[in-house]
Formats: sequence, structure tokens, C-alpha cells
Amino acid sequence: MNPSTILRRFIFSMIFVAGAATAADKPNILILATGGTIAGSADSQTQAGYTSGQVGVDILINAVPQIKEIANISGEQVANVGSQDMSDAIWLELAERVNTLLGQSKVDGIVITHGTDTIEETGYFLNLVVNSGKPVVLTAAMRPSTALSADGPLNIYNAVAVAADKNAANRGVLVVVNDDIHGARSIVKTNATDVQTFKSPEYGLMGVSLYGQHRWFRTPFRLNTKSSAFSVKGVDKLPRVDVLYVTADMSTDLIDAAVANGAKGIVTAGVGNGNMTGAALKAVAAAVKKGVVVVRATRVPSGSVGRNVEVNDDEIGTVVAGELSPAKARVLLKLALLKTSDAAKIQRLFDTY
Ligand code: ASP
Repeated sequence: MNPSTILRRFIFSMIFVAGAATAADKPNILILATGGTIAGSADSQTQAGYTSGQVGVDILINAVPQIKEIANISGEQVANVGSQDMSDAIWLELAERVNTLLGQSKVDGIVITHGTDTIEETGYFLNLVVNSGKPVVLTAAMRPSTALSADGPLNIYNAVAVAADKNAANRGVLVVVNDDIHGARSIVKTNATDVQTFKSPEYGLMGVSLYGQHRWFRTPFRLNTKSSAFSVKGVDKLPRVDVLYVTADMSTDLIDAAVANGAKGIVTAGVGNGNMTGAALKAVAAAVKKGVVVVRATRVPSGSVGRNVEVNDDEIGTVVAGELSPAKARVLLKLALLKTSDAAKIQRLFDTY
């Protein structure tokens, strides 16, 4: 072998060793894609209409090559739906996949791409049923991948950076959008179209992420992930829970219909402090007598529904949701009903999670 070939091989092997060492130093982050506007596409960069869940996980990853400088990345497609079509079946599959992957020592964190419409429900569900302290970070976008100034790529970049950050561990499931890091329990979508739509009205942000640099503000104060007693291992169906919207002079037919159609639980999106008309309260009391668990939440975007304020929960047998939105109260009630249908025990779960 001539000296120049030996030198070339030596240089190549040094590059290989250096490259391998860099890869070994980086955390391994898996991106699980479920669809949403972040994977949406439209015919032009400026039109409002588009279809969610069109683009696959590889295209999402390749649109942000910079994430490979932060972590070793691989991707899996779990679903490709607009999150208005998110279902119990996809939740159960996602929970199973996340728990399996996080149980592997080579996996350091998970990013889940999702639609913005129901990201807060999926995030809270995973917050209750993932049993690992490793980072699980959901992200989304308000603009489709084909739009002018699409917000997806930077959101993915920040989400990967958060998942790769050791300080993200043991903070429950997180949602990273528009430079903000939210806790899954607190996040609420507050605007139907704005890019800055997500807020954490009761407890504030978990932190902020600016081009992958993070400032952390708080930790969760309710049980979650590793400390959660909920599990969906081996569960193939969740109980039916309906959310009913309360208005002035509402008809009570929907309460009776939910019971007649097999709901095991009802969440009322009440007015004010979880209130409802006298007639609705009577229908609720009848539902409770039939063994249906009724949780009083509020349609007001923030604040907490308290026990026995204007409604005598002790007498009727209702549960109160505290600060949980009706959609999140529905998630917790579905999981609680896997354990018990005793209202007092379910109230304790609502006070703890
Ligand atoms: N409908 C879309 C979804 O939730 C909206 C979005 O992602 O922004 O999938």
C-alpha cells in the first residue's frame, strides 16, 4: 500500500471515530408523528384552506436538518389524522408505544407531532398513563407545512431540544409551541386561528425555549407520569364519557340521552362555578342514582369549580373538576372509571391529578 493510501485511510478512520463519538454523545430522540396541521398541506403558500395529516414523518424530519445536530433522530408514523379525529384507539396505541420505547435504555426522550385542536387532551392523557420520567414532548403548528412562514419547523426544533434537555425530565408531559413550554395539565388552546394560541392560564408556563435554549420556571404540582397510579396496559377500550354544554334554559334531553346511550360518566361544561339550571340538576341527580358518575366542570376558560358552593355536591353525589377544563375532566374521568365508579374516590383522584 503506498503512503498516500495509508494516510487517506488513516484520515477516513479518524473522521469515522470522531463521527461515532459525536453520535454516542448525543441523546437518542424518537419522533412519533400523528398528523395535524404540522403535517398539513395546501395547494398554495397563502390560502387558508388545507388538509391536515398529509405529510409523513420523514418529510417532517428532513424539513429541520438542524435537529440532527442536537440528537440522534429516528421517526415513526403512529397515525396521520387531523386531531379532531383523535380517538381512544389512537391514544391507547400511542401510550403503549411511548411506554415501550421509554423502557429501552437507548431511548432518551420522545417528541410527538400532533394537531393543535386536541393536543391538550392527548398531552393530559399521556401525562396520566406514561410511567417514565424521561421527557415526552408534544408539538404542533397552526400553519400547514406548505404555508408562508410555517411555524412547524421551529416548533419541531425546539421540541427536540427540550426532549434532549436533561432538565426536562420529571416535569410530566410537556407541550412546546411558539417558543413556550407548557405542562400538559395546564395548557389550553385559546384562539381558533392565531399562531400564539396556547396559554397556561392557571399556573403559568413550565418554561420557554428560544432556538433550543431553555429557561425553566416551575415543576408540576399534581401527580403525573412516574408518580401516576393510572395505567392502560392491556386496556383495549375506555369507558364512554360525554361532555354536555350548559346554557341558560338548556334542555335536559341530552343528559337523559347520554345515560340511555350507555355513558358511564358525564362531564357538564357548566356556567360560572360549574352551575346549571335547576331542571338540569334534577336530571343529573337522576343520572347519579342510575350509577353514572357526573363531574361538574365550567365552560369559563379559567378558574376552579369548588365543591358545595352553589350546588350541594355531597347531597347529589356529584364530583367537581377543580381547574380542569371539560375536555381534560373527560380524560381523567375515563381513566378513573377504569378503577372505580365511587364518586368519593373519584373526587380524590380529581384532587390529586
Ligand atoms: N385541525 C387541525 C388539527 O388539530 C388543527 C391544527 O393542527 O392546528 O389537526
